[in-house]
Amino acid sequence: MLTVSEALARLMAVPRPALPGEEIALVAALGRVLAEDQQAVLDVPSAANSAMDGYAFCHADVVSASQAGNGSKPLLISQRIAAGHSPQPLQAGTAARLFTGAEIPPGADTVVMQEDCDADSGQLRIRELPQRGSNVRPRGQDVSLGQYLLHTGQRLRAQDLGLLASQGLDRVRVFRRLKVALLSTGDELVEPGKPLGPGQIYNSNRYTMMGLLQGWGFEVLDLGIAPDQPERIRSLLSEAAQLADVIISSGGVSVGEEDHVKAIVEQLGTLDLWRIAIKPGKPFASGTVAGKPFLGLPGNPVSVFVTLLIIARPFLLASQGMNAGPMVVSKERALFEKAGNSREDYLRVRLTADGVELFSSQSSGVLTSASMSDGLVRQPMGQQIAVGDSVDFIAYSVLT
Ligand code: AMP
Ligand code: MG
Repeated sequence: MLTVSEALARLMAVPRPALPGEEIALVAALGRVLAEDQQAVLDVPSAANSAMDGYAFCHADVVSASQAGNGSKPLLISQRIAAGHSPQPLQAGTAARLFTGAEIPPGADTVVMQEDCDADSGQLRIRELPQRGSNVRPRGQDVSLGQYLLHTGQRLRAQDLGLLASQGLDRVRVFRRLKVALLSTGDELVEPGKPLGPGQIYNSNRYTMMGLLQGWGFEVLDLGIAPDQPERIRSLLSEAAQLADVIISSGGVSVGEEDHVKAIVEQLGTLDLWRIAIKPGKPFASGTVAGKPFLGLPGNPVSVFVTLLIIARPFLLASQGMNAGPMVVSKERALFEKAGNSREDYLRVRLTADGVELFSSQSSGVLTSASMSDGLVRQPMGQQIAVGDSVDFIAYSVLT
């Protein structure tokens, strides 16, 4: 059996597709992965501006006036500057009324906020002299020209789009979406919406897999249920290899099982059956079909969910060109006890204010355990968990 980290390392060694880049509109770029580094093309802000509603003045003017014994002498308010309007140079010994975001006029270097002064009949009296440079956002305070802002492989979040927009960019170069072909295997499967015959079950894996893959930003090519006809499976898999970058199937990878998908993958490419020390989800297949990576997930609904999240996800994100970084694991207090296991166990738990609660059934066929939980507790091989232990918790929300 492979440990989880051995399986991850083996999968990451499988050759990944090289995706082309494409230039898209910034408005459509949320969740896409950058195909080139982004360097600043502008200083932001492009000119010094005010951080407050107040008055701009030259600090030295006021200091020298007070040293000359004119400390309380008011300053003439010589102009008014709203955000978006360009200022006149400040006349010496005067102040400019201005508002947040308005440019500092040449000749001024400090802003006093309106709460710290009195303005009356066109005259400004400063009650509390701020330090020189106060309330001024200098040019380039946020971004300076040429600075690296974002790197190849970053997935664009809302704030990243905002940053690119602040540079005046309305297009961005990203990797084309990874195309993932999906196949559900099993003679017992029926699509939802159709009546269920004897011995049949609904194809739930298709929806679990599609949802995760779409959430990761991939283009899913759904090939539906693989019928039990070798010729049909062969043509489906060949088509998948032509259209998609990666092929994923569920079911039919248990050792010794009679399954056409396994046999045909072997004819069209290569197939490696792994036994991974993970619970749920021990059987896993990795291979190629006509040169495209093939991942064969187990059939049990929770095994599909867990192996897609834990084993397949890093490979798929890397295939998309993304630098995903390590999985985010937090520490939570266990509100349950659990005997050790010979495999690494991914327990479905609910997060509460006091810690994590174990879902009542941890069977790999119990899909409610995945739906009625907030994340996974990773129980290392052979370690028991006692109430009050600090355990590794992986929230579903960090795996999206
Ligand atoms: P298998 O790995 O094909 O032996 O499947 C293991 C279990 O998962 C069996 O109980 C299957 O009926 C079930 N199963 C397989 N594929 C699916 C699917 N697409 N949706 C729901 N259950 C499935
Ligand atoms: Mg099956």
